[in-house]
Amino acid sequence: MDAANGGRIPVLDPATGEVISEVPRGGAADIDRAVNAARRAFESRLLLEITPAARVELMFEIASQLEKLADEIALVEMRDNGKTLQNGYNEVALTQRYLKYYGGMADKLEGRQIPLGGDILDYTIHMPYGVSAQIVPWNGPLPVGARSVACALITGNTVVLKSPEDSPLSLFLFAEACERAGVPKGAVNIVCGYGKEAGAALVSHHDIDHIVFTGSVETGKSVLRAAAERVIPCVMELGGKSAGIVYADADLHLTARNAAKGIFTHSGQICSAASRLLVHRSIHDQLVEKLKAEAGIRTIGPGVEGRDMGPVISEKQLSRIEALCKAGVEEGATVVSGGRRLDRAGYFMPPTIFTGVTPQMRIANEEFFGPVLVVIPFDTPEEAVRIANGTDYGLAAGIFTRDLRLAHWTADRLVAGQVYVNDWWVGGVETPFGGAKRSGYGREKGQEALLGYVQTKNVGIRY
Ligand code: NAD
Repeated sequence: MDAANGGRIPVLDPATGEVISEVPRGGAADIDRAVNAARRAFESRLLLEITPAARVELMFEIASQLEKLADEIALVEMRDNGKTLQNGYNEVALTQRYLKYYGGMADKLEGRQIPLGGDILDYTIHMPYGVSAQIVPWNGPLPVGARSVACALITGNTVVLKSPEDSPLSLFLFAEACERAGVPKGAVNIVCGYGKEAGAALVSHHDIDHIVFTGSVETGKSVLRAAAERVIPCVMELGGKSAGIVYADADLHLTARNAAKGIFTHSGQICSAASRLLVHRSIHDQLVEKLKAEAGIRTIGPGVEGRDMGPVISEKQLSRIEALCKAGVEEGATVVSGGRRLDRAGYFMPPTIFTGVTPQMRIANEEFFGPVLVVIPFDTPEEAVRIANGTDYGLAAGIFTRDLRLAHWTADRLVAGQVYVNDWWVGGVETPFGGAKRSGYGREKGQEALLGYVQTKNVGIRY
């Protein structure tokens, strides 16, 4: 459907910088129409009046419709997001897992019966909020969007989702899958538009009841200000500057491999990327050599060529990463790999490693959201934990050691929503994910996520 004012947003292929498509530039009028549709769908109670078992079937049907669109989705993820074709297919599979995982919970959301004695029956109900406003970033729009939609629908909420302006295409196909699966009209509404137009109009709309925001801390703050005006709850999934701590007894080969995976996957454009590595001084030089080798073996190129690393999303993002690298050099850090864009069309940043970094430097505190690793030496576990916890963020953290006692000691002290030991991204659809401190609050993924989409209603009955 076109935007009310006819506006369009060009969609670029980050591997070439060329315009490959355009999408409607939704604005306040489109958001208003979408929220009204979601409100009508919510008030109709259609989702609440079909049985929980039917909601299970509905989620499974969306997953099965996605299967039929998998080739198209993989292709658009490659073209508008810079992923490889294989990663595009992986995104479809991950999204199906979310739909089936949450679908499978639709008939297991049980309340409690609270004994009050006498002639009273007391019980609780999971009550949906109503219209859930959801804002999604560009790095993984399909799974990030679909998991929130699934949580909302199985709990009886309806949704208005603003898709990311830089990589909007896969969520259009998700909308198609929802429609083909028979999701009730108005229950899922996807509007594409710029953050300052459609995004701001959505979070400040007078008729939304709930917000799920995934994006940067700065934008998150403005979303929270809008939510405060209307006292509505938010799930906030914000940025990160996650540290891996490498103790002297770690398996260095395995550590280098996993740390490189943690920062160079999807060119570092993952909120929980392993962007800082804190390394015991006794193994620092040895590990840096292995990290350089890991950076060196990675091939870089457009997703269509199936290389290890694709482009970053935009010229703006590439310039930001380069500028922060420059600041690192000016602050006295040393580039041992990469450090500046590749001299070719598209937005390619090579795997970059900084050494000689101190915890006070900007590059040790600010999120690159690119393939840039900063390595910081430490001497004692207490110092490592202090540095790891020393930024504004608290999304993820890692520990590399053979000593389980030390791993537990460290995990207990790290302020992060998830801690990985001897690997990066240990977990899955089933494990709760979210931040501490400025990385946000509330949880996505796992059973915990559902608690963010319902409020408890207590019903007390005197016979
Ligand atoms: P961003 O905050 O600029 O944009 C995120 C989304 O918010 C986009 O859809 C954008 O259009 C929208 N937006 C922008 N301004 C808005 C406004 N005033 N009101 C409402 N919506 C607005 O972030 P980005 O640069 O697109 O994404 C990268 C950031 O997202 C990083 O900080 C990254 O760590 C974070 N992120 C976090 C998670 C997580 O789960 N914690 C996952 C992915 C990305």
